[in-house]
Amino acid sequence: MSNDSLSESLLQAFLDDLLPEQQMIEIEQRLRSEPELLERLNSFVANRDQGVHSMGEIWRRHRMSCPTREVLGSYLLGAMMAEQAAYIESHILHVGCRFCQSNLDDLRKLQNADPQTSNMRRQKYFQSSVGKLPPA
Ligand SMILES: [Zn+2]
Repeated sequence: MSNDSLSESLLQAFLDDLLPEQQMIEIEQRLRSEPELLERLNSFVANRDQGVHSMGEIWRRHRMSCPTREVLGSYLLGAMMAEQAAYIESHILHVGCRFCQSNLDDLRKLQNADPQTSNMRRQKYFQSSVGKLPPA
């Protein structure tokens, strides 16, 4: 990834957890070392909260209520609190979110294919997922 500033659409996609894993990691690392970038990201989040302006915005706001891939991962591993697990179950079963359902299917395949790293992932997911869910 180049050193110049990231585009707004890229940061929006990052917020929605829609980028390939490698790119998510690169942006996360840059956010830690570049306070200006973090500030830009925070301003997007603030703008989102101010109102809905377009179909794209509606779509993104809906997506914001979806648990992240990491949260879904810890759900699969059973490494989360009952309250969070209940939120995910109601989101997928009652709201019927296909996006999360397919994400979950995908993660389940990955975990089955790669049991050696499951323990490490369990640790990582548990640490990073606490407090990330929006209020139910
Ligand atoms: Zn969802």
